[in-house]
Amino acid sequence: MTRIAVVGGGPSGLSLAKLLTERGARDITIFEAGPRPGGKSWTLYDGAAVAEMGTCYTTLSHWVVKRWMREKGIQLERNGRVLFDGTGFMKYVNQGGGPPFAVQALRYFWDGADLRRRLAKPNPSQDTINEAAMSILDWLRVRKLPKVELFLHRIITIMGYGFLDETPAVQAHRWCDIILFVSGALNQLHMPVEGWSEFWRRLAEDLDVRLNCPVSRIERNGDGVWLTSPEGREAFDWVVCAMPLDEFGQLVETPTDAEKFVNQSVQWQGYTTALVASDNWFEDWHVEGYSDTVVPGARLGRLVGARRETYEEELGGHLYVTGQLSRGLTQDELREIAMAELEAKGVNVTNFVLQKSWKYFAQYSMDAVRNGLLGLMRDMQGEQNTWYTGSTFSFEAVSHISNFNARLAKEMQRRSADRPATRTQPQ
Ligand SMILES: Cc1cc2nc3c(=O)[nH]c(=O)nc-3n(C[C@H](O)[C@H](O)[C@H](O)COP(=O)(O)OP(=O)(O)OC[C@H]3O[C@@H](n4cnc5c(N)ncnc54)[C@H](O)[C@@H]3O)c2cc1C
Repeated sequence: MTRIAVVGGGPSGLSLAKLLTERGARDITIFEAGPRPGGKSWTLYDGAAVAEMGTCYTTLSHWVVKRWMREKGIQLERNGRVLFDGTGFMKYVNQGGGPPFAVQALRYFWDGADLRRRLAKPNPSQDTINEAAMSILDWLRVRKLPKVELFLHRIITIMGYGFLDETPAVQAHRWCDIILFVSGALNQLHMPVEGWSEFWRRLAEDLDVRLNCPVSRIERNGDGVWLTSPEGREAFDWVVCAMPLDEFGQLVETPTDAEKFVNQSVQWQGYTTALVASDNWFEDWHVEGYSDTVVPGARLGRLVGARRETYEEELGGHLYVTGQLSRGLTQDELREIAMAELEAKGVNVTNFVLQKSWKYFAQYSMDAVRNGLLGLMRDMQGEQNTWYTGSTFSFEAVSHISNFNARLAKEMQRRSADRPATRTQPQ
């Protein structure tokens, strides 16, 4: 039996362990540094308030997670109305020129699916790789899709996946695919009534999760892996990196060349959420976004959008979660910007309840994509008895991470079956 250590008890570590368990694996230990499972899925519970400070929506792509939500008795509530600049989102999109949106969207999805198909081949051509490395803005402009460009301001930038001139086409297409589009069109966006934290807590009950157990050192050789944590030094056959790779690289005794290359090739963006209470902000819709803060070149830190959560008298009234792209800014600076912008919008803040800054969205450098980053990330799986998951290797969304893990678990099971039965046990 293959003994597996998973470092990180966020959505990637938990979902991979659950999927491996469903495939019959029995010896998996998850090490989680913090006091609760779920990582960037974090819900604030306060009185009647259930506010998502991290992960919020499920879409039609969350099929793995939704199956577990049903199993664990988690209910989903449909998203309400979305406004952009105080008006319907499609009104904003239709300000872009050219053919009707449906025609432009078809071209976007058709060419995007073709790019992904070509990239999935064992040896994609350099032309395909160069196309994947283009900024999504250039990719759209070559195809003259101005309405899709405005559409992606909300789908990519408000969600914290970068300004369109910075995000490589490969990452934009991973996220904004036809399934996401259909999810939006049919309003198949939901949030868990009991909260994401409760979902992961229930899921973790089925698994061997050690909380408050940060891994501090990882030694590897051809035979296996040794992990040091507050519980001592233990031997495993395989280790899974389910935490940011740059931090994982600091734990391993000798990072591989591939690990070093990937680390140099990604830049973490930041996203900050704040929970504010107000007695005069919007009540008739659920989510709103602002165009002036999401166009390429806009100043970082400005409010990109807000979502209305529950009402909680004790916390000051109606609660809203705001979003800010926050790379390089301090919490104090972000709070100051948020308060100034809310004041300019005429929002009376009765309580600034909480602020959370997240290490969010590992954006690929376009040069690195051109120089083979994607192939390298595929080939390094399983090398040095190490497997990699999480947002760097799939995308910064629970849907994409768990779908990626479904394929990874299959590959790990296949390689586990191929391992020699008489191998040397790690000492
Ligand atoms: C504001 C916000 C909104 C979002 N909205 C959505 C959404 O609507 N839908 C969606 O699908 N996704 C959403 N996401 C994205 C989703 O939350 C992330 O993609 C997901 O949490 C990433 O999971 P992960 O396991 O890779 O990383 P993380 O969630 O970061 O988990 C990594 C875990 O590793 C642990 N760790 C770190 N170092 C160590 C160590 N040395 N030893 C042991 N453990 C360690 C950390 O404590 C952490 O728990 C959102 C995220 C944010 C921040």
